[in-house]
Amino acid sequence: MKKIISVLLALILVCSLVSVVSADTSGARLDLTPSSVSVAQGSVVTVTVSLTGAEVAKSGGLQFAYDSSVFETVSGEWKLTGAMLKDFNASKSAAAIAFGSATDINGDIFALKLKARDTAAIGSTTITVTPALKNGSKDIDCAVGSTTVAIKCKTHTAGAAVKENFVNANCGFDGSYDEVVYCTVCGDEISRETKTIPATGKHVTGGWVIDKKPTLTETGLKHKVCSVCGKTVMTETIPVVDPNAPRVEVESKRVGLGRSVDVNISIKNNPGIAAMKLLVSYDEGLTLDKVTFGDIGGQSITSPKLTSPVILNWFNGDGNLAATNTVYATLTFTADADTVTEFKNIAIDFDPEDVVDINENEVEFVSIDGGIDVLKYIPGDINDDGKVNNKDIIRLFHYLSGITDEVNEAATDVNIDGAVNNKDITTLFKYLSGWDIKIY
Ligand SMILES: [Zn+2]
Ligand SMILES: [Zn+2]
Repeated sequence: MKKIISVLLALILVCSLVSVVSADTSGARLDLTPSSVSVAQGSVVTVTVSLTGAEVAKSGGLQFAYDSSVFETVSGEWKLTGAMLKDFNASKSAAAIAFGSATDINGDIFALKLKARDTAAIGSTTITVTPALKNGSKDIDCAVGSTTVAIKCKTHTAGAAVKENFVNANCGFDGSYDEVVYCTVCGDEISRETKTIPATGKHVTGGWVIDKKPTLTETGLKHKVCSVCGKTVMTETIPVVDPNAPRVEVESKRVGLGRSVDVNISIKNNPGIAAMKLLVSYDEGLTLDKVTFGDIGGQSITSPKLTSPVILNWFNGDGNLAATNTVYATLTFTADADTVTEFKNIAIDFDPEDVVDINENEVEFVSIDGGIDVLKYIPGDINDDGKVNNKDIIRLFHYLSGITDEVNEAATDVNIDGAVNNKDITTLFKYLSGWDIKIY
């Protein structure tokens, strides 16, 4: 038997030389996969040989080659089953196999165990395998396979620690780096430790950002943001507005979807101003139809378009406005019919240099925002119970008599003439009594 194997091996190897010469790159190929891409001196690596693209075979041989100063063979093992002959000659690094009939042998076919010598040179080394596959007397084209593995030290020699992946700390966020130690002989990473660089906490802050303006009854809120790290570094409440402070104030109103409402901007506790320029911003869903300035004399004008934000500007070159409390302007808004029912803000802003007296001295004012609560309503449903009936007449009567203010204000102007009065009661009364009349 041993003799047969030797003859077979010799035959296969001779054939392999021929087949290498005539190797067709479009044919089968061998892939070598090491169990690890790097092997320490004195350690074992297993190289798995896999075959792809080969036609059926009846016999085969593998001739391994590697640097013998680097490796010595430990063992070799065919992974194929059903063979009538399997052999591996460790001293020659040659393997042979034979089947009783043509067999598909694609897949993992062989595992070679190599041990890196203690004296193996550090660095990259190549392992190759030359195949000789036959189907009877026919050679099967198959390319030579190879792989490289890196030989590493058995015992590393630590170099000086180096810093990698450096991320700077700033005022708000910690930084970090990896402290890494490499082997000075084989270059392997021996250790890696992530170190934290604490945040400095030295923030750079600008001016206050107003989150919520105060009113006469509710405190406001403001904060400062660090321009470097973006963190909020200071938050403070703003005290309620002093009721005696000069102020400019937007009313808050309620209106039904699709309906119009007047919103006053008033001046309170006026110590004497001769000019005021306001920037009025209002939420989507509102349309500003008209601006009517109050009885404040002088010259007044708006920006050419009434889209948000709109400028309301006024001056009186003849002297200070005498009235302590007065309407600065009345803004007529329509709540868009298709908008969301919610509170829509109307906010005012101004540059202190634009609020001055006749001597161009700045006059300190505070501003209070307002808005419009846009409501869903049913025309005629004064008591907001979802139905229109005599209860609504009673409620509207009581509302107009000052007995209650619990009404859906959006529904009170039944005849939509801009006023809520006894005419609305009459209109609703007739509507409920079968008159051919439209209510709003
Ligand atoms: Zn090393
Ligand atoms: Zn910061």
